[in-house]
Amino acid sequence: QPIYLADYQPPAFLIEQVELTFRLAPKTTRVVSQIRFAPNPAAAPGQDLRLDGEGLTLIAASIDGAHVTATPDATGLSMAAATLPDGPFTWEAEVEIAPEGNTALEGLYMSNGMYCTQCEAEGFRKITFYPDRPDVMAPFRVRIESDLPVLLSNGNPAGRGPGWAEWDDPHPKPSYLFALVAGELTARTVRFTTMEGRDVTLNIWVRPGDEDKTAYALDALKRSMLWDEQVYGRAYDLDIFNIVAVDDFNMGAMENKGLNIFNSRYVLASGVTATDSDFAAIERIIAHEYFHNWTGNRITCRDWFQLSLKEGLTVFRDQQFMGDMRSHAVKRIEDVLTLRARQFREDAGPLAHPVRPESYVEINNFYTATVYEKGAELIRMLRLLVGDAQYRGALDLYFARHDGQACTIEDWIAVFEDAAGRDLSQFKRWYEQAGTPKVTLLEDWQDGKLTLTLRQHTAPTPGQPLKEPLLIPVALGLIAPDGTELLPTQILELDSPEQVFRFSDLPTKPVVSALRGFSAPVQLAHAQSSAERAILLGHDTDPFARFEAGRNLARDILHAMIRDGARPGPEYLEAMRLALTDHALDPAFRALVLRLPGEDELAQSLHAAGHTPDPDAIHTARRLALRRMADALAPDLARVVEDMDTPGPFSPDARDAGRRALRLAAAGVLAHADGGAKARAIFAQADNMTEQFGAWSALLAVGAGAEEGAQFHRQWQGDRLVMDKWFAAQVMHAAPERAAKIAAALTDHAAFDWKNPNRFRAVIGSLGAHPAGFHRKDGAGYRLVADWLIRLDGANPQAAARVSTVFETWRRYDHERQALIRAELTRMQDRPECSRDMGEMVGRMLG
Ligand code: ZN
Repeated sequence: QPIYLADYQPPAFLIEQVELTFRLAPKTTRVVSQIRFAPNPAAAPGQDLRLDGEGLTLIAASIDGAHVTATPDATGLSMAAATLPDGPFTWEAEVEIAPEGNTALEGLYMSNGMYCTQCEAEGFRKITFYPDRPDVMAPFRVRIESDLPVLLSNGNPAGRGPGWAEWDDPHPKPSYLFALVAGELTARTVRFTTMEGRDVTLNIWVRPGDEDKTAYALDALKRSMLWDEQVYGRAYDLDIFNIVAVDDFNMGAMENKGLNIFNSRYVLASGVTATDSDFAAIERIIAHEYFHNWTGNRITCRDWFQLSLKEGLTVFRDQQFMGDMRSHAVKRIEDVLTLRARQFREDAGPLAHPVRPESYVEINNFYTATVYEKGAELIRMLRLLVGDAQYRGALDLYFARHDGQACTIEDWIAVFEDAAGRDLSQFKRWYEQAGTPKVTLLEDWQDGKLTLTLRQHTAPTPGQPLKEPLLIPVALGLIAPDGTELLPTQILELDSPEQVFRFSDLPTKPVVSALRGFSAPVQLAHAQSSAERAILLGHDTDPFARFEAGRNLARDILHAMIRDGARPGPEYLEAMRLALTDHALDPAFRALVLRLPGEDELAQSLHAAGHTPDPDAIHTARRLALRRMADALAPDLARVVEDMDTPGPFSPDARDAGRRALRLAAAGVLAHADGGAKARAIFAQADNMTEQFGAWSALLAVGAGAEEGAQFHRQWQGDRLVMDKWFAAQVMHAAPERAAKIAAALTDHAAFDWKNPNRFRAVIGSLGAHPAGFHRKDGAGYRLVADWLIRLDGANPQAAARVSTVFETWRRYDHERQALIRAELTRMQDRPECSRDMGEMVGRMLG
């Protein structure tokens, strides 16, 4: 039952106006809809009316006031063309739904007594009968009837009385952007005046008691609004902007028009309860959802295959915003690390798919790192290829040409072709072709001439055995052995399987600094000596290339340790000492350099190099490398821990956060030599969650921290979000042989609420993210995760399918592990009640 992009048909009917009335009750909510339909002039005439609807009890229906009999099937209902008036007509229906029993958290559901909705991608059909597709856009008017004090929907307030409220959204929108919230909530409010002079009320709604944790999100919202005006010329377009924090939420947040709904972990923060990473995630996601108002809502997607049109672009915009707010260098490195950890991993396995997929069974399974993060990389490459000014011109054209429309990737490419006057048909393959290209760089040096040969190759992915060459921008510079720059950054455009680039008149053999800024989402194979890497790490003018040189050094050493029991040599340790102690460098950058590649990253790179990764060997080698670093650098690490204190009241700003990151990174390495003495001291003195949690995690990682964990629990058992950290850390940092046992014990804990997605991920997701623990040879990790996925699939298929990706790397491993995983995947699939979500994911993984 897959749906294909090639089968797209325009909607038979458009909608002029929607009116909805909700009479809220936990088990018996009534939804009355009045929908003004008109035949779509762009579609074939005389078609039936097909409305999507799932799990709805139809009470009554009429057309133009005359009662009609409609018999819903499992996915909706049809009205035969012959029974419909010629021209426009009004469909009216009353349905009953039960939000209280809705554990899938899709459609209208309840979270701690509060009503809320999640409609993207196809949740609106669980609220009423409707053409639930993004290319049907309409203005909505909504009436909510309930005794709850706060009643919210999209758009501007349009009336309020005892037990009711009305909302009017004048901007035509697809059903996936509909939202409703009702509950006992309290708001923190500020005002914002747009560049167009509109006075806007900004509210963040939370449960009473959480008001003191909303200041940071509200400030991030104001900064996002100002930034979108200044950088993209985009102003907000309603009189009110509401954000609501919800504890039970499948994803991060949702950009519903004028009423964003957030997973509470991406709103609520105070210095004592949230880490610096939490603050950064809040800032990013607040910005992301706000930016969707233009890239997503005003201009939406024609169909769900075009999802990256809004998500790739909005991720790129939130990345730019975060770079401007904090540090471009650090942000870029973090984004590349995330891309490799999640998207390269996806691209290298059975779940690989193009940024614009060609078919799907369940669209919720395609809210992926490929659609989001690789999609953002494609926009970054476009900007690099056309230049900053033309990029802005293309975006201006996009907004001018497509405001109010539901668009495609073709529309997007066309604005770049028109604005830059350049044919981008080859570039478009990036949207259609899955897999991470491998770029090989070969150097030849003769008589003062450097010849670089660049080759590209993309391995087959499921359904795509043959790959065409892509247009790959390779940013490249040359550095002299003494560290001076011989050639500033050039953009080499690699558009064939193999190309040669020549550089002459060079005074000395240079060190090649390739793929600066990570100019394309490729895997670069470029043989360089440790000495060359040390030069780049110490002197490159491009901060990403500096970081990357250190990373490559570390990776090569770890590979050698894993494969032939080598030891980290003095050059590596000296390079790390230089980076650690270079006061000219941003502490946040030094923290990133100090951090070794993770176990999954190492498994990925070993696999890419043709080896079968052994999770235990990787774990052991990585710990040994940390031990060597700790022994060799102990005095420097200890000094950094002292130097990087942050006196004065807590501030989540990037400067202090960077100092804390370096301090904790140093204490974390040092714990492998001092038994955690420094970490214990940080824990004892911490006045903020970053240091309290970071120090406890460092202790757990060296097998200590039991007492600190008990103290942490005593202090924070009343705070759901902090308790998620308490659950997660114990699994994430467990010794490999104990991880599954600890996770199992935590699922018996009174506070383990498996229906809450955050809590489920904190335990089961964390086990899946602990390679040596999850991949235990006896299969205990696999069994526990599969048991819980089967259970969750019965209540919340979307969340279960998402967590099932912990198995996506299974073909990397040895036959014994593969056999164990195959058995678990088969057990998950071979149930008559297996959901469509889970069925598709497991089916693709089994291949
Ligand atoms: Zn988004």
